[in-house]
Amino acid sequence: MGDCMKKNFNIGKEEKFFEINIRETSDKLEKIADSIEEKLLDILNVAYLHKENIQKHEEITKKSDDEKFSKILQELEFIKNQNESLTKKLENYHKEIQNLNMELKIAKQDATIDFLTGVVNRRSFDRTLGNLLKEVREKDYIFTLILLDIDNFKSVNDTYGHLAGDLVLKEISTVLRIFLRANTIIGRIGGEEFGIILPGVSLENGIKVAERIRSIIENREVKFEDRIIKFTASFGVTESKKEDTKESIYKRVDEALYIAKRNGKNRVAFL
Ligand code: GH3
Ligand code: MG
Ligand code: MG
Repeated sequence: MGDCMKKNFNIGKEEKFFEINIRETSDKLEKIADSIEEKLLDILNVAYLHKENIQKHEEITKKSDDEKFSKILQELEFIKNQNESLTKKLENYHKEIQNLNMELKIAKQDATIDFLTGVVNRRSFDRTLGNLLKEVREKDYIFTLILLDIDNFKSVNDTYGHLAGDLVLKEISTVLRIFLRANTIIGRIGGEEFGIILPGVSLENGIKVAERIRSIIENREVKFEDRIIKFTASFGVTESKKEDTKESIYKRVDEALYIAKRNGKNRVAFL
């Protein structure tokens, strides 16, 4: 991995950044689920206690022949039935919460979607890239890879705050989803970096696509607490080659992005 690769990708630090966000959200959900589970168990225990008490009183009442006790017995029967149906409901809720809690834990492990932007995450994007490179090697197949990096994003965060930065990330993912074809693969592959795979598209057309997206982003804005935030992005573009590996194609597209940054940002460069 070359120096510019490290500079622009910064994989360790940025991946950690958004993985922490995912972890924080699901940890919170897990805590809520745990506490609901605990409270339901408390209520269930009270219901079980009621059941015991009702039974005790029923037995005492049954022993007596007195007429007026038969009315009380009827009432007790009614309360018992109500208590039982409530207990059943609570038991079902308890089971449901336990299942949801389990699903949450599984989802956390194999999530493929980036929680903030709704596009696929790095792991999933990499998997698709690997599969397509296999197609390139074995068949007469091409694709174009675009790497988008938001310009001066650190200063967006520093000026408007982290929440505003998150809105910009969401806005860019919305632009990508709206303006790219349905078969395009869009991934958030770093903190403020998106990968775009255009299946079957040549370098020449890929450059046109990148230029179009660049110009749309340049004219877009985000409103945050009465302030208008403008932003731009730089693009690296490259076409798949027969001998490419994930590392070689990432390196090439990253070098192209580096050229775009060096030449003044808010532009497209290709290799
Ligand atoms: P350049 O134009 O050279 O790309 O500069 P830059 O400021 O965009 O790049 P740099 O790598 O210096 O900073 C990237 C910043 O992106 C730093 C980090 O705090 C921020 N970032 C990463 N992930 C997130 C996120 O999920 N939300 C927000 N708000 N900021 C993020
Ligand atoms: Mg970056
Ligand atoms: Mg950047």
